Amino acid sequence: MKFETLCLHADNNIKDEWGTLNQAICQSATFVHKGVDVDSPYSYSRLSNPTRRHLERTIASLEGGYDAYAFSSGMTAITVAMMLINPKEHVIATDDLYGGALRLFNHVNKNNGIEFDFVDTSNIDLVKEKIKPNTKLIYIETPSNPLMQVTDIKEIANLAHSIGALLYVDNTFLTPYYQNPLELGADIVLHSGTKYLGGHNDALAGFLVAKTKELAEKALFYSKTIGGQLAPFDAFLIERGIKTLPIRMDRITDNAYKLAKWLKTNNKIKKVYYAGLEDNPGYEIVKKQARGFGGMISIEVESPELAKKILKEVKIFQYAESLGGVESLITYPMLQTHADVPKEEREKIGINDRFLRISVGIENIDDLINDLKAILE
Ligand SMILES: *Cc1c(COP(=O)(O)O)cnc(C)c1O
Repeated sequence: MKFETLCLHADNNIKDEWGTLNQAICQSATFVHKGVDVDSPYSYSRLSNPTRRHLERTIASLEGGYDAYAFSSGMTAITVAMMLINPKEHVIATDDLYGGALRLFNHVNKNNGIEFDFVDTSNIDLVKEKIKPNTKLIYIETPSNPLMQVTDIKEIANLAHSIGALLYVDNTFLTPYYQNPLELGADIVLHSGTKYLGGHNDALAGFLVAKTKELAEKALFYSKTIGGQLAPFDAFLIERGIKTLPIRMDRITDNAYKLAKWLKTNNKIKKVYYAGLEDNPGYEIVKKQARGFGGMISIEVESPELAKKILKEVKIFQYAESLGGVESLITYPMLQTHADVPKEEREKIGINDRFLRISVGIENIDDLINDLKAILE
């Protein structure tokens, strides 16, 4: 089956007495054993639940993994994945990471004895310089958030494996519709399902997809031990979102490209970061390893006053955190995602008081452009 069809039919094992087309929402914490010596597929919903399991099989299939586990947020999925790394082991991670992952690494995992180095992983030589005898994991986001730096997944997977380390890729930005890190050599793929997979800003979710049986079994052990699984109703919502993932991504990418091109022509916009612009440093690599560029754009405007004016006066774009939904959103990374990052560090990489991040939605592109045009002119 091709991707669009898999989004609807990857797990057609729905067998119940009513013949439901959709996996029924199985709102039960526990399940009745069929007999004392009889194996039952379900016993307790922290271990497994039919609604969640259906979604997990769909995601495993879309990412080409051995198995997948669904959690109540992206951060839970990342937390569980980090349980596979032990104290005194060393991790090399992208420096331009999702703020929550950065907080987990710096304030939880480090306290528990895991060592970290953060580098621009789009530059493989910088990664090589950080390798230590105890390096056990390379952790990347590509394109990165919010600077859209692009890492060559195949190249970095080869490097990781040559030193006996694992590669984790947070694939939230491009989704499995555009990018399949496991095929390119990654060992674990992570997602905030809250974003494009769910797609409607109505539920939090996270996924861990493991390439091998061995990694899946380890992840399942920590998952059932820690908890934080996705609830049945939320699993239903994310499953429903996935059915339209390809057509949403097509529209979003089309809109984002047109918007990025238009932003480049406006003299009050000083910089446009979009992986799909031919002059973005990572453009050729995304073209090689992915099938689309997605909907995330960052801009630097001419003054902090203009940045604030945009946030105040937009009518169709909404000033809100998060990304990946059908509605277009703008955030102010300085005040939101990067509020915890010291000012000097953040300004060094370009996240200043003129920097805004846009998540493009599925509205009509003319309405989106006119919304900004009215403020910029
Ligand atoms: C939002 C996000 C996360 C965290 O996911 P939650 O569902 O908010 O917990 C992780 N990685 C990326 C790239 C994200 O955008």
